[in-house]
Amino acid sequence: MRNTHTEERKPSRTKTPTFLLELPLFAEAGQAARMDAHLEVGRQFYNAVLSAGARRLRRMRADPAWQAARAIPRTEMQERKAAFAALRERYGFSEYAFHELARKLRVAWLAEHLDAVLAQTLASRAYRALNRVCVGKAHRVRFKSKSRGLDSIENKRSDTGMRFVLEPSVEGRPHGFLLWHDDRLPALIDWDDPVVAYGPRARGADREGERFYVQLVLKGLPHHKPKHTAGTDTIGLDLGPQSLAIVPRQAEAQLVPLCAELRPDARAMRRLQRRMERQRRAANPEHYDDKGRPKKRGKGAPRWKESRSYQATRRRKAARERKLAAHRKSLHGRLAHQLVRTGNTIITEKLSYKGWQKRYGKSVGRCAPGMLIDHLRRTVAKTGGTLHEVPIRSTKLSQFCHGCGKTVKKPLWQRLHQCACGIGPVQRDLYSAFLAAFLDPTDPLPSCARYVVPWEGAEARLVAAYERAKERAKEGQVVPRSMGIPRAGARLPKSLSEATQELLFLSNRGKVEAWKHRSEPPLLQPGEPSELRQG
Ligand SMILES: [Zn+2]
Repeated sequence: MRNTHTEERKPSRTKTPTFLLELPLFAEAGQAARMDAHLEVGRQFYNAVLSAGARRLRRMRADPAWQAARAIPRTEMQERKAAFAALRERYGFSEYAFHELARKLRVAWLAEHLDAVLAQTLASRAYRALNRVCVGKAHRVRFKSKSRGLDSIENKRSDTGMRFVLEPSVEGRPHGFLLWHDDRLPALIDWDDPVVAYGPRARGADREGERFYVQLVLKGLPHHKPKHTAGTDTIGLDLGPQSLAIVPRQAEAQLVPLCAELRPDARAMRRLQRRMERQRRAANPEHYDDKGRPKKRGKGAPRWKESRSYQATRRRKAARERKLAAHRKSLHGRLAHQLVRTGNTIITEKLSYKGWQKRYGKSVGRCAPGMLIDHLRRTVAKTGGTLHEVPIRSTKLSQFCHGCGKTVKKPLWQRLHQCACGIGPVQRDLYSAFLAAFLDPTDPLPSCARYVVPWEGAEARLVAAYERAKERAKEGQVVPRSMGIPRAGARLPKSLSEATQELLFLSNRGKVEAWKHRSEPPLLQPGEPSELRQG
């Protein structure tokens, strides 16, 4: 056996770099049922090891020697380490001991489903979970429930047990198969994908909803796209929960919706959510009163039941969620690279995404603007640039007007900046992004003098960006309401009272105040925003 007695040993670091490749598998009904059976046995086995291991951990911690070892000051490193190592040895709490345990537990009918190496990797997994509790990184371990099952199983060897093979075919390009027991599951391989061309070798199967995937650990480095070149411009950004205004100092300005491609996915997700709700209701009528409202639950209330179809829907939703997250990440990456191509000095206001989460939960959940900023920061850093986040409290870019130097709060519904001093009308997010672009990040206080010259060149670009966004909306692109573009064919407020309701709804929480002053004399003072509202 490769593993030695030494404790705290990290999984041996391979010197050769590796990467992961995931391929979908074709499974017929019979094959899928057998795979499910294997995974179910894997689940029970994992739970058995976890339970036995948890007992060992409890006994070890109850030993007075454990408290004594903890009392050794951290400065006496050697002594402390030796004391803990002795305890682990005595109670069999090590990866090696868990492999021994796995050997004993893998008996009779279990062995038919689970080969020795898979059992060993499951034991390692259980050990790692318990060890996190042992060293205080986790509070408890989770047993795998029957309904959720084991998501994946892993083999660390490519010559025995579950493995992946390539076989030559008549068409020239080889076919890939996952071999597991007596089943051969063909994999769907896109040979034109440059990542695949590296040639797969072995290990691991993952289950996702009703589908199976094989995950291969491949030697070598993943395929990298040709290096992106970084631009030299400075870019001002104004990030909203659903939209992004991009204003470089020189290049073209843009107003784009965030992650618009995710809308259909998010819709499908909500449908699954509603379906789960219906299934839960159908299976638990005793938890609802005759008006269909959920009853208050006291102690001793009957347990909630989960129907099989409910569990299936939950699995599908989980799979969908993983996919959505991956899709979002790639969209963020694309946007970040597109920005860096223009310039790698980026200035934006530091925002509280936590606060947004409370207020615009749905769209923030879909577009994840905070993650976008993190992604952007990493991408920019890779090219030697900087992302400056200036404090919103001192800058107040969304309220500032460079023509008269006044800061005036705009109500949320007012999507244009138009000031009596002659600036505007211009879309407010684009205007904030413009102000950010020409800000000095070391002294982020907007001053009028700074903006006079840049405004000459920028005004036309901002107007053009807004016009382009309008064009795209007309062509059918879905744009968030916050961009201030009337949707093609959208219902427009017909009467003032109707408009009032809608506006009040938009300007929730505190913003109502600003709205109340709306009916003051129409005479505009410098710095006062006009009442003009598009749409
Ligand atoms: Zn002004």
